[in-house]
Amino acid sequence: MYLMQNAIRPYPWGSRTAIATLLGEPASDEPQAEMWVGAHPGDPSHLHTGVGDPSAAPTSLLDYIQQNPSRAVGGAVAAEFGEVLPFLLKLLAADAPLSLQVHPTAEQARAGFADEEARGIPVDAGHRNYKDPFPKPEMIVALTEFVALAGFRDTAETVRLLNALDVPAATALADTLRKQPGADGLAELVPSILAMPAEKLTAALDAIVGACRTAAGQDGEFAAEYRTVVDIAERYPTDAGVIVVLLLNRVVLQPGEAIYLGAGNMHAYLSGLGVEIMACSDNVLRGGLTPKHVDIDELTRTLDYTPGGMQRVKPSRVGPLEVDFRTPTSEFALSRLTLKSGDEQMIEHSGPQVLLATEGEITVSDLRDGTLTLKPGSSVFIPATPGRVWISGTGTVFRARDGLGVPKKTAVAAAPAEDAVSAVAS
Ligand SMILES: [Zn+2]
Repeated sequence: MYLMQNAIRPYPWGSRTAIATLLGEPASDEPQAEMWVGAHPGDPSHLHTGVGDPSAAPTSLLDYIQQNPSRAVGGAVAAEFGEVLPFLLKLLAADAPLSLQVHPTAEQARAGFADEEARGIPVDAGHRNYKDPFPKPEMIVALTEFVALAGFRDTAETVRLLNALDVPAATALADTLRKQPGADGLAELVPSILAMPAEKLTAALDAIVGACRTAAGQDGEFAAEYRTVVDIAERYPTDAGVIVVLLLNRVVLQPGEAIYLGAGNMHAYLSGLGVEIMACSDNVLRGGLTPKHVDIDELTRTLDYTPGGMQRVKPSRVGPLEVDFRTPTSEFALSRLTLKSGDEQMIEHSGPQVLLATEGEITVSDLRDGTLTLKPGSSVFIPATPGRVWISGTGTVFRARDGLGVPKKTAVAAAPAEDAVSAVAS
């Protein structure tokens, strides 16, 4: 097992304080949006592998895996995903909204990638949709209060929210959903919003954002939703995505709560600090709130318009110290251990694992490499082969691994917002 060195990505929406505070450091001069813990080619973690030579330069985890695939990721992962770490773990700290986005299914990613390759679109082109042939399911576990937009709201509720604004631009949207409730109405409405001619869009935004500003001050049922629209419109005053925001669930996660974002789920993180895990892919189709490329046709083919599609993940207790955040994916599995002084847990897994401490002081031991101590924000990579590892200390540590052989939950389409990930797979 190896102590990791992880890069922090300075995207402009990142917080200057959240990750710094967790690391016990002063506020940063530049935004700290995401700390990447994994082997993503864009910014792989590095491992301190210098046995007997602490001054040796750390090795990229990507190189380590390529040089020692069977030891690093093991046979089962290699057979299923190739000689790669199939997941990427992150600390994510949002101070401003991220773009509205959706990720493809495995089939869409494969077909979309093959199509763009065949058409000769360079993989780094601004209008390229599929950077790789893989799906990108994601889950975020809140460490602080975390606010996100995720999935389409029940359309009867959205009709109420729009009509309460009492302006023709909003009631026209409500009428479409009233005449055609559910996914069909949304499938008609969303592309028409995103393709609105500039003049009509400007007028609609003026009227709707103005009405949201008034309604946000009135403390009614949807005041927080209206406030979010106003906040986002201040950053993206001409973006059609601002209107789409009115159709989405606004989710507030308390520390320890989680949501799963499967293929087709339109989402945007708004604020807060969390631990995020995802399949190691870059396939993002954007729907607005971004200066980047928006491909409306491809987006609308990829979107799941089923309302109520917000999948909260209830942690399942799997041991005295450990809870599992179960999802339908096999690319990753994530659990959290909470330890008091004197606690110890042995963990065993046939594939690669990453431990990321978020609180306290965590001790990790194995028979080969001895003992490592993790402060908040520190992480350790455990290759597939060393067998048993013991975790002790005081605090909180997240445990990421591939999801092969790990119990799953099956996503249920159109389930109620509170418990959409409900049925336990055998
Ligand atoms: Zn996403």
